[in-house]
Amino acid sequence: METTNPRVAAELEKAGDWEQYWTRAAARVDWHTPWTTLYEAFEGSFRWYTGGTTNLSVNALDEHAKNHPERPALISIVEDGTTRSFTYAQLFALVRKLAAAYRALGVRRGDRVAIYMPTGPEAIASMLALSRIGAIHLVVFAGFGSAALAQRIRLAGARLLIAGDITWRKGRAVPLVPIVEEALRDPGSPVRTVVWHCRSFDPPEISGITSYAWQALDDLAGPASDEPEWMDSDDPAFILATSGTTAQPKLVVHTHGAYQVGLLHTSAVMFGLSPNDVWWSTSDIGWIVGHSFIVYAPLLVGATTIAYEGALDHPGPENFYRLIQEHQVTGIFTAPTAVRLLNRYGTAPAAGFDLTSVERVFSAGEPLNPPAWDVFQREIFHDRVPVIDHWWQTETGGPVVGNPYGLGLLPIKPGSAGIALPGYAVSVLRADGTRCDPDETGSVAITRPFPGLTARLWGDVTGRYREAYWTTIPGVYVTGDAASQDADGYLWFRGRIDEVLKIAGHRIGTSEVESALLRHPAVAEAGVTGQPDDLRGEVVAAFVVLRPGESVRPELEDELRQTIRHELGPVAVVGRLEFVPGLPKTRSGKIMRRLLKSVVMDQESGDTSTIEDPHAVEAAREAWHRADSDQGH
Ligand code: AMP
Repeated sequence: METTNPRVAAELEKAGDWEQYWTRAAARVDWHTPWTTLYEAFEGSFRWYTGGTTNLSVNALDEHAKNHPERPALISIVEDGTTRSFTYAQLFALVRKLAAAYRALGVRRGDRVAIYMPTGPEAIASMLALSRIGAIHLVVFAGFGSAALAQRIRLAGARLLIAGDITWRKGRAVPLVPIVEEALRDPGSPVRTVVWHCRSFDPPEISGITSYAWQALDDLAGPASDEPEWMDSDDPAFILATSGTTAQPKLVVHTHGAYQVGLLHTSAVMFGLSPNDVWWSTSDIGWIVGHSFIVYAPLLVGATTIAYEGALDHPGPENFYRLIQEHQVTGIFTAPTAVRLLNRYGTAPAAGFDLTSVERVFSAGEPLNPPAWDVFQREIFHDRVPVIDHWWQTETGGPVVGNPYGLGLLPIKPGSAGIALPGYAVSVLRADGTRCDPDETGSVAITRPFPGLTARLWGDVTGRYREAYWTTIPGVYVTGDAASQDADGYLWFRGRIDEVLKIAGHRIGTSEVESALLRHPAVAEAGVTGQPDDLRGEVVAAFVVLRPGESVRPELEDELRQTIRHELGPVAVVGRLEFVPGLPKTRSGKIMRRLLKSVVMDQESGDTSTIEDPHAVEAAREAWHRADSDQGH
């Protein structure tokens, strides 16, 4: 690829020798025992840096606490203004205490521990404490409902749950206790112990469960050891669920060694993260961005990281800008949904705040639409700093496509996520595996593993990992996204090839929503697709088939909306919900969501040769249009 930036060109050239390149990248990591084998591929998977031992949490804290104990490590801000700062020494002390306490509760190397808490110091220190002692954390986003929580806990086999009692959202303390109580009533729940961090309630009594209040951890920690475990490069540090198109979420595994190399590499090349940074990633610890770029990467490099709980526009739309000024933020990592939210208020709220500490702004999670980019780039940041889109997935642990700020920028093309970053082999392929021509849309594939790419799914006994990623086009990792690549090598993402919804940056499987609907006794079948939404990118459009004998009562739609909210939490925002006599399905019985999508988008149905009953699409169209005209659209 030709580039206008000699540093980028030189780095891409170096990356051509991938073995050398990833050997050199591994030197950024502190290894307790040096690795001996760079890369091994074996049946169904691969691993990196075999023979090496390290610890992700130790490298994020121990040396920094020794070398610059007074530097702020973590600034925790709640939307109500409550702010708590931890120096490296203080965070280290808290993490060591928790490590000892969790050990005292019986947590051992390899055990899974679930965390259901808002983004804050107790959750972050717990993540770090667990990885310090070799336990595997599973953070479940504190906006998910009880069914989602129970399912993830069950799949991970977690016996300990660390929970918060509330989370702040738009001025409201949302109670988490009833959700946890209900999740733990799941007969398959393996949880035996809950540690509660409570801000409003007393820890509840739950039968069959031993509960500890946060304060009890002090006594538990006393006699126990906080010594770290040295973990093999390939040992899991955490697991995190993504929602696939099937009801069963995938539990992605990220490791102590390879993931750490990948993070440090992208921290340098993509983000130019340095110890001088005051870094604000507006994500949540429930997502991979939170794991990688609120917690691990900024601490690994010794920077200051901001963790924010609540809505960015609360108590008012100026909140975001005020906090940037107040904390002298140098790097921002946000998402298109946040950019759209802030842009909704126009630029006036930013006026009067000094944003000159900011050096660069990054966005990922969805395509950063050019109009939204434009407002941020030109009107909020006055073209003084770059606003940079980049692409990645839970499975990649960090960015794969981007504009490498850390090497000096390439020209920004609004609407494009950038180039394949040095070290990452990305191709746009046709279904038969041949390469697309420039500007031809195809399937985005990673043609060679890199350190940090998920090499397995937790609890995978059926070969689901291979099936999900490596078999659609044999021999390459298929990301599930569609894109085209232009003559300069820039990628332009078009959306998912499959049907996962992305609501306000949160990935929700269509079938998770369908499963929720099916829990209502009146529902026989449900088909879900995305409906464009100015603010959230996408919301749920649901098509519901009632059980025989049931009829559309006036309150039914409300009940179904409540059911979805109850099962999946407020992230699953429903746009339209229509009742239909049947769903379009293949002859083998699979719901054809792309046809539902065509109804919602008012497009032609396309190929319907595999459809069981063509009338189902017509009925859906009729229902949709009837409701349109009812609503005076
Ligand atoms: P998640 O694993 O939840 O982070 O979701 C990953 C998916 O989000 C990707 O497969 C894409 O579909 C989408 N995505 C992430 N970043 C971008 C981006 N910059 N442009 C377009 N799509 C993106």
